[in-house]
Amino acid sequence: MKSRRNFLKTAALGAATLSLDGIPAVASSRSGSARKPIVVSTWDFGIAANRAAWDVLGKGGRALDAVEAGVHVPEADPKNQTVGYGGFPDRDGRVTLDACIMDELGNCGSVAAMEHIKHPISVARKVMEKTPHVMLVGDGALQFALENGFQKENLLTPESEKAWKEWLKKAEYKPVLNIENQSYEGKGTTAFNPLRLPGNAWNHDTIGMVALDAAGNLSGACTTSGMAFKMHGRVGDSPIIGAGLYVDNEVGAATATGVGEEVIRVVGSFLVVELMRQGYSPEAACKEAVLRIVKKKPAKAKEIQIGFLALNKKGEHGAYCLHPGFSYACTTGANEETLIKGKYYFQ
Ligand code: ASP
Repeated sequence: MKSRRNFLKTAALGAATLSLDGIPAVASSRSGSARKPIVVSTWDFGIAANRAAWDVLGKGGRALDAVEAGVHVPEADPKNQTVGYGGFPDRDGRVTLDACIMDELGNCGSVAAMEHIKHPISVARKVMEKTPHVMLVGDGALQFALENGFQKENLLTPESEKAWKEWLKKAEYKPVLNIENQSYEGKGTTAFNPLRLPGNAWNHDTIGMVALDAAGNLSGACTTSGMAFKMHGRVGDSPIIGAGLYVDNEVGAATATGVGEEVIRVVGSFLVVELMRQGYSPEAACKEAVLRIVKKKPAKAKEIQIGFLALNKKGEHGAYCLHPGFSYACTTGANEETLIKGKYYFQ
């Protein structure tokens, strides 16, 4: 925000899906048709991530490259304690990361419960491109990463270690309802507040990013350190294709954030895409997925946050969540970025 004069506005848009102007479309090079590029991603920190994605999309680059570059930003940011380097550790003090990526051809790759690698999204991409598999986990994922030239690093920052030690004093094993926007709305989108520690913490918040490129193709990426202070080995929705992320280049793409167990139960992102296939708008599809969660577990739904974010083939986007506080970043140009509040179920 220092040198770039980005146009940024916070809007309670929600009900209507948005169509976009101002970006010249280029001819299709793959299976899509020419489109104005757009990238959307979860939470306020999506703004900075989208800028990196736009650096690719704005030059006519591929959505897959854009989403990988975009989510690298929160993955590398030590102040972001819910994604990548500096993420909160599990209850044993180990930072274990989950990520997945999916392209316009239905190719996908994923890593789960992987330690020591700062950019799990890029390992997920390598799994997609270099193995016959979709998913590698734990030590196997780390071994594969090291074999492919990724550096082994300590991902536990002093700040996250301190938070973990604080948490250990009570060691309460339950999610804290995140209330991001309510606390610092209007203070700027990069104002990720690292001081909100357990008791008043952002104990989870994944970056899910989906993009449409100028060739009319969709891709998505999703990466997280998962629930703070989780059981060692716990994996949420984020690296699960269909749950944390899904892309169908004929229809649209969706991603999820929030308590992953409930997203997995409804195969959330796949559900959202299938609803869009039936004609639902992105927001209506996200809302229907949230309603499924409420219907299955009404008591639980009151205590947790979940948000879905979707983008369709036309470049229309929308979101819906359980509780106030979920926002997503939408970028359609170098100076065209918007933070949009998700509509929510519990008024
Ligand atoms: N979905 C993530 C998980 O369950 C956390 C989050 O997005 O807040 O691991």
